[in-house]
Amino acid sequence: MIYLPDLPDIMKVAAQTLTDPIFEQLKINVTVLRLDKIHAIISGNKWFKLKYYLKRASDLQKKGVVTFGGAFSNHLIATAYACKQSGLSSIGVIRGEEPAVYSPTLQDAGSYGMKLLFQSRQAYKDRHLILELQQSHPDYLLVEEGGRGHLGVKGAEEILHLVPSHHYTHILCAIGTGTMISGIINSALVTQQIIGIPVIKMANSHCEAVEFINAHTTAVNFSIQNDFHFGGYAKKNNTLIQFMNDFYHQHAIPTDFVYTGKLFYGAMKLVEKNFFVAGSNILIIHSGGLQGNRSLPEGLLHFNS
Ligand SMILES: *Cc1c(COP(=O)(O)O)cnc(C)c1O
Repeated sequence: MIYLPDLPDIMKVAAQTLTDPIFEQLKINVTVLRLDKIHAIISGNKWFKLKYYLKRASDLQKKGVVTFGGAFSNHLIATAYACKQSGLSSIGVIRGEEPAVYSPTLQDAGSYGMKLLFQSRQAYKDRHLILELQQSHPDYLLVEEGGRGHLGVKGAEEILHLVPSHHYTHILCAIGTGTMISGIINSALVTQQIIGIPVIKMANSHCEAVEFINAHTTAVNFSIQNDFHFGGYAKKNNTLIQFMNDFYHQHAIPTDFVYTGKLFYGAMKLVEKNFFVAGSNILIIHSGGLQGNRSLPEGLLHFNS
């Protein structure tokens, strides 16, 4: 039986309208879809991306799921918890050598029963590892890092069901692997503009996320705003941290420094640059991930996540 968070949890997800004098001045509306509120542990987009993998594992009568991630991975912790609730075993292959002290994410994943296997960064990058794991764990379903893949996209196609989504002219979200935005693009109207903000620095001509999006969608009504990655994955600076604190004080919305901090920073910069014409109705998807802030020094953020 696949575990689904209780309906009341889902209903708690709010579409929160933001107020800011600049929105009034420009005659635009900005609403945030608070996927961070779905569930305390399987937060944000990860639940949507995992759903059909868990169903597949169960349909194929697999014993569990083997998947991949870094020491602060939102995907690992969500997978560990969802598998536990669904009666599946889980194995997490962790990027990097085994640390002397486990990160809170790894501690939690372990406490939900996930078996942790550490791999050097070199071995982790090697596609050979996936083949080896498939051979050594035939009774496990292999789920790519971040839930990347077709079934992840299928789940992400359900995100917009939570709001009257036809109402919006623009939908903004963060891009990691490109799985979530592919689902958003597939389920949006062709008249809507989908805008992705990558959190990874990518060379324009050869970018895995863009290739992924092109392979999993047919629509052309999306664009990528590449200026808000802050130097790369999980990179940050004082400007970003200050923005996250200010944003929290103004709107009471906590963000994470890996994904949603950069997303909202980028969104606000686009607003300030007059990117959106008067009358625009903008939906920004808060994809969760707050637990990742536990890697930051205490006190840096003015909110608990
Ligand atoms: C994983 C994650 C993303 C990235 O989603 P992709 O489908 O990999 O593009 C965005 N936001 C948060 C909070 C995440 O945890």
